[in-house]
Amino acid sequence: MIKKIDHIAIAVKDLSAEISRYRDVLGLEYLGSEVVAEQKVTVAFFRINDVLIELLEPTGADSPISAFIEKKGGGLHHLALEVDDIKATIKRLQEKNVQMLNSEPKIGAHNAQIAFTHPKSFSGVLYELKQK
Ligand code: ZN
Repeated sequence: MIKKIDHIAIAVKDLSAEISRYRDVLGLEYLGSEVVAEQKVTVAFFRINDVLIELLEPTGADSPISAFIEKKGGGLHHLALEVDDIKATIKRLQEKNVQMLNSEPKIGAHNAQIAFTHPKSFSGVLYELKQK
C-alpha cells in the first residue's frame, strides 16, 4: 500500500550553495546530509510538515545524477512514495506491467529500502518506492 509522498528530489550541481538557499532563503528546516554510496550521491534533507525535500549532488562523474545534470542542468528528479511493504509493491506493479529499474530493493538514505520505477511507465515521472 502507498502511504504518502515521502519526498520530492531535486538534482543540484553545488550542494552546499543549495543548502544555504533552502535553509536561509526559503527558511526550511535543514535535517542534515549524508553520502549514499550505493546511489553515488550526497543527499541533504529539508522538512515541510511531513514531506521532505531531498537535494541530490553526484559524488562523481559515474553517478546517474551526473548524467541527469549534464542533460537537463539539474532540477526535479523524482518523487518518492512511502510504501508499507516494498517487495509486495514491486511484485504488484510488475504484475500490472509497470517496468521497474530495480526489481529488488536497494539501500537508500537513512538505510531505507528503495526501488525505482521506469519513467516510461508513468509519463516520464521517476518514482522511488521507499520502505522505512
Ligand atoms: Zn529519493
